[in-house]
Amino acid sequence: QTNSQYNHTTRHGNHKQHGTSPKELIGSAFQKRTNTINPDVCEAGEDDAFFVADMGEVYRQHLRWKLNLPRVRPHYAVKCNPDPQVLKLLAELGTGFDCASKTEIDQVLSLGVEPSRIIYAQPCKTNAYVRFAAKAGVKQMTFDNADELYKIKQLFPDAELFLRILTDDSASLCRLSLKFGAAVESTRDLLDLAKKLGLNVTGVAFHVGSGASDPQAFLRAVEDARYVFDQANEAGYDLKTLDVGGGFCGDTFEEMAAVLSNALNEYFPPSVRIIGEPGRYYVASAFTIACNIISRRTVEDAQSNRTSYMLYLNDGVYGNFSSIMFDHQRPTPRILTAGSRFLYDKHAYASNTERSTHYSIWGPTCDGIDCIAESCYLPDILDRGDWLYFEDMGAYTKCSATRFNGFTDSHDTVYVSSEPGASALLGM
Ligand code: PLP
Repeated sequence: QTNSQYNHTTRHGNHKQHGTSPKELIGSAFQKRTNTINPDVCEAGEDDAFFVADMGEVYRQHLRWKLNLPRVRPHYAVKCNPDPQVLKLLAELGTGFDCASKTEIDQVLSLGVEPSRIIYAQPCKTNAYVRFAAKAGVKQMTFDNADELYKIKQLFPDAELFLRILTDDSASLCRLSLKFGAAVESTRDLLDLAKKLGLNVTGVAFHVGSGASDPQAFLRAVEDARYVFDQANEAGYDLKTLDVGGGFCGDTFEEMAAVLSNALNEYFPPSVRIIGEPGRYYVASAFTIACNIISRRTVEDAQSNRTSYMLYLNDGVYGNFSSIMFDHQRPTPRILTAGSRFLYDKHAYASNTERSTHYSIWGPTCDGIDCIAESCYLPDILDRGDWLYFEDMGAYTKCSATRFNGFTDSHDTVYVSSEPGASALLGM
């Protein structure tokens, strides 16, 4: 049993069971906020883009994880979205955390999380951060090369080390193996060196790439990890932990989890502790963003005799739509308000070009690459002051926003909760 108010397979509560559905909650948060803003008279900043975050969605994703991957203890990848309420909820739910820097470690420790729940999962670490981790008692960390071993020998010889191995991440959105991971041809030498230096190797880690799409990548990675566990045994180590990284997506989660679970059960006895580092999986669907149309340009095409519009929003690729550049996303625009009509969840994104209007959608900066959608159709004629919204904006969005052109990189988040369990833990 998931103990959820909503079945996890019905994303955003399309099939309402009882109470207020996630869609209704998010819609009413949007309505309340946009109703109070009059772009013609408001102060600078009041009509900025803002998020609505459903903490119930994060809670449901956690239940779904536990149901499908009961052997794997999640360590949420903070880099994906270090939102304080998300971290607080996950801390309360008892997950661990994957941190990549001093700031992330600090943020998690400040929630009262024990250092043993943190893995410093960055194979090439900043010297001062390693010293900081040593002082803070964050012992678990990854490595994938000999130089890093010498660094750790010097700065934190008591660390508990996970050897990060290379994976085939060719079917993922964001490839990580271009930069990190030891090839299995080199792992024996690294283990021997670690032994020679008297270091404490306690596990193996891998990451199949963020936004992975091939479940078999998990099988191959688990097989390689088994090989390295056996190598470590020959080198005199008794490894205790396998870290299966991140790469999970909401849409394919059950399929990936099934392949991974079977592989784990085949290759690793129950005595081996398994952890994971999911990021995107937990937060992508929980955040929806609303953006205001700050300007519109009418484009007449004499040849086709058609009118289309360029819409300029108050957020773009230098802001929360950084996911377009860094995470290869293509966020889908939907209409939130048109004139005085509130249209959240009222109609699907228009696929019928006959009965809709053609747009291109741009961010607020002076740069031509600041384009959110080159060509799209929406079933209404929109104008300055109207609002658009974009779903699935929780992963790798606000964390990589910049202040280019003086636009803000800190946008408001309105928190709602569609799960009583999450509301109780957050005091909402
Ligand atoms: N762990 C490490 C070491 C990563 O580099 C990343 C993402 O870059 C993650 C976990 C999170 O991956 P995902 O968001 O695909 O779950």
